[in-house]
Amino acid sequence: MEIPVVYGTTGSISALLDGTITRDIINNLTDIGGKCVAEYVWIGGTGQDLRSKARTLDKKPEKVEDLPTWNYDGSSTGQAPGDDSEVYLIPRAIYKDPFRGGDNILVMCDAYEPPKVKDDGSVADPVAIPTNTRAACAAAMKKVEAEEPWFGIEQEYTLLDATTKWPLGWPKNGYPGPQGPYYCSAGAGCAIGRELVEAHYRACLFAGINISGINAEVMASQWEYQVGPCTGIEMGDQLWMSRYILYRIGELFNVEVTLDPKPIPGDWNGAGGHTNYSTKATRTAPGGYDVIVEHCKKLEKTHALHIAEYGEGNERRLTGKHETSSMHDYSFGVANRGCSIRIGRMVPVEKCGYYEDRRPASNLDPYTVTRLLVESTLIN
Ligand code: ADP
Ligand code: MN
Ligand code: MN
Ligand code: MN
Ligand code: MN
Repeated sequence: MEIPVVYGTTGSISALLDGTITRDIINNLTDIGGKCVAEYVWIGGTGQDLRSKARTLDKKPEKVEDLPTWNYDGSSTGQAPGDDSEVYLIPRAIYKDPFRGGDNILVMCDAYEPPKVKDDGSVADPVAIPTNTRAACAAAMKKVEAEEPWFGIEQEYTLLDATTKWPLGWPKNGYPGPQGPYYCSAGAGCAIGRELVEAHYRACLFAGINISGINAEVMASQWEYQVGPCTGIEMGDQLWMSRYILYRIGELFNVEVTLDPKPIPGDWNGAGGHTNYSTKATRTAPGGYDVIVEHCKKLEKTHALHIAEYGEGNERRLTGKHETSSMHDYSFGVANRGCSIRIGRMVPVEKCGYYEDRRPASNLDPYTVTRLLVESTLIN
């Protein structure tokens, strides 16, 4: 008899391991001799994948500058040639580790070419590798620091059965009933995967992520969480780390998480990454509303530039149907969810507030989206 060979991730294998045993060990063996495990997290070569590895530190660092730089084999992540494969990691933000608990930490890092020694023997400034979108974002945020940009991102995502790659809980080789009952639902057969969603919510709160809420989405097995408001570069750091935590939670349940903007073609909602944005000026009455309208007019000029960077496959989602605007048109309006940009209903009344860029896809890079927003509205 021939044994069929299956290529691709075989998520079902991890289901053979009973995670409760690990939780039991971690919860009981709490004395780790005053040491601290730091899980360094970074973005891999696709610009979408998250990678991480751990190291033991002699004590818990007080601030991110206390953490050592580290490196990894970039030829294994599609980020460096094999003959010069070292990529450098610079720690940027610390969160509590919800998986190891205790004083252990997760560390969001960004990636650089190996430091070069100059002719005079000094070490040159690190050069960001091409997939490092954080460096440009941090530079832009530095420039507009005085404007105090705040962001809140609504991260939509879809749960998949790790073996079949079909949405979790959907009938084998079939579809559930049409959309309608699932959004913000309660009840078996409607709110599918809540155990995972709740675990992620609590883990983010423990970690120190500024997660502001969760809800079930319009498509069955699709959910949303929001992170924000976050100031400047913290938006990108926190959203990426919240995704890392989501994938780790998915491991525990043996469920895959996809950020594909349109996981199921047809009459099923896509997944977005609505990005809410304000500055000191937009938040201040009475001139704030006028500033928002000015921003929206500026964003019309740079529409194509933003669309090109708002997530791969976004053209499958931004069709003008399923609560989206067409990617070929730009529009803004008060309380209108069919626009590219939605201004909240109360903004013209209160004469200040924030607005929502509805164009980014669920697989947005928050470093790029927040950078483009401040560049288009405040810098250029
Ligand atoms: P929606 O009504 O579009 O579903 P959500 O409630 O899901 O909106 O998300 C709104 C997001 O906007 C949250 O992440 C929230 O933290 C964020 N937010 C709130 N106030 C501001 C502000 N002044 N500037 C930027 N973002 C904000
Ligand atoms: Mn090795
Ligand atoms: Mn929302
Ligand atoms: Mn939503
Ligand atoms: Mn929204």
